[in-house]
Amino acid sequence: MRNITAYLSVVLVVSLLLAVASSGCIGTGTTQEKVLVVGTSADFPPFEYKNASNGQITGFDIDLIKLVAKKMGYDRVEIKDMDFDSLIPALQAGKVDVVIAGMTITPEREKVVDFSIPYWEADQAVLVRKGSGIKVSSVEDLKGKKIGVEKGTTGAIYVKKHLGNSSTIKEYPTYVAAIEALLNGQVDAVVLDSPVAEMFSKKYNSVEIVYTIKTGEHYGIAVKKGNKKLLDGINKALKEIMNSPEWNKLVEKYFGS
Ligand code: GLN
Repeated sequence: MRNITAYLSVVLVVSLLLAVASSGCIGTGTTQEKVLVVGTSADFPPFEYKNASNGQITGFDIDLIKLVAKKMGYDRVEIKDMDFDSLIPALQAGKVDVVIAGMTITPEREKVVDFSIPYWEADQAVLVRKGSGIKVSSVEDLKGKKIGVEKGTTGAIYVKKHLGNSSTIKEYPTYVAAIEALLNGQVDAVVLDSPVAEMFSKKYNSVEIVYTIKTGEHYGIAVKKGNKKLLDGINKALKEIMNSPEWNKLVEKYFGS
């Protein structure tokens, strides 16, 4: 009887020690890291894109979320790259803590996720091949054209709403695919966010912006619906950053000439 009691006590103590060790308090000598898991779609320069030389995901949004996370006491961020269309489902499924992807705050999206205060403004731009002769002075001029968009974006939603009956709309999983389709003549135009269209027109000599659709969009950082604690922390950090010289440095780094 006594042996069994002694045996059970040993088992109890050992399991307690194991539990404490695996919780990260003792044992390995390291404390648990605080990691913010960030979802993005890295084909949206200068907000998020893959560095041409090393393939690392970088950009305005990436630097911004790192600053936000640091202010909030996180040790590091972990970036998960996916198609734009998968970002909100990933947030809802708890696969990522936040989404930063030049994501426009829209009433439809606000039904399923919560957004931070706005941090950037954008319109939609019409990108065509140089020398295509396509002239656009209103959205009507795109009627009958083949238009490429990225699936799930505000550009795609706008084009479908205004030209859905009169034009052929091709949806691509990424902008890279949409721009390629434009370059090789599969579509006549690509409709996408104006700051990104400007970057693409600088990168690819053969495309140009011929029209801007004034949609007046605002970008926000998204969190899972109801995650008030995280959202409050993000908003506080974001406000501080936007009112500090760090913000101007960031803007200059990614938008400066
Ligand atoms: N701002 C656009 C949207 O929210 C496009 C964002 C993106 O493609 N990364 O739909």
